[in-house]
Amino acid sequence: MFYFDKFQGKRVLKSTLLDDIDCFFTTRDFVLTCADRTDLKEVCEENRNLLKKELQCKEITTAKQTHSDHIKIIEENNYFYDDTDALISNKENSLLLMNFADCVPIILYSKKDNTGAIVHAGWRGTASEILKKTIIKMRDELNVQPKDITALIGPSIGKCCFETDYDVFEQLVKNKSNTQLYKEKNSKYYIDLKELNNIQLKELGVENIDICSYCTCCMSDIFFSYRKEKGITARHSAIIKIKGDKICQ
Ligand SMILES: [Zn+2]
Repeated sequence: MFYFDKFQGKRVLKSTLLDDIDCFFTTRDFVLTCADRTDLKEVCEENRNLLKKELQCKEITTAKQTHSDHIKIIEENNYFYDDTDALISNKENSLLLMNFADCVPIILYSKKDNTGAIVHAGWRGTASEILKKTIIKMRDELNVQPKDITALIGPSIGKCCFETDYDVFEQLVKNKSNTQLYKEKNSKYYIDLKELNNIQLKELGVENIDICSYCTCCMSDIFFSYRKEKGITARHSAIIKIKGDKICQ
């Protein structure tokens, strides 16, 4: 179950499935990435410093997101990954951050392996199954079993607002038998991106899944929405810190 919590007095969204782990989705109240809202640059800087201080991390590891299916396991002393839409870490005390404004954010974590990931799945990432590929990479390269992974599918644009034309429908759901994945109205298609990602998780045997019901477009007073704000918007973020005893370098 998702619930609003406070991080140093600022509103964030957490899940009961991972409430003992430093991971959450931010809101407008705790903006960390300004994107086109350059007026928020200073507050982003302040908030990033607060995040690092409170989580006792010197660096934030992040990526230039490009709607690709490129996935990286983070390396020592490398805190920025170009052209990457999923980051995986098994490094103690590393702090991952990725950014969203309608696309589906997914946080993955295996308590058994102390390994986590953040995935950015817009419609292109969902169509190319970046979430599924991330879990396969965790399994094949880090020996993390899907059954040990807890997955949080965070706030994103909902089926209510994700209106597309036939070309997107064709790539995402045309060949799927589940008619609940979309609705058709006036030659437009309204597609459930969160459920499409949930299916990818289930196909690989991930059992512990929490799905946030919030639509970022309907709730643009709380989250940033690229569609609602016609592209001129900042980003909310997904955050996870990998547990460790020492202060990270
Ligand atoms: Zn909506």
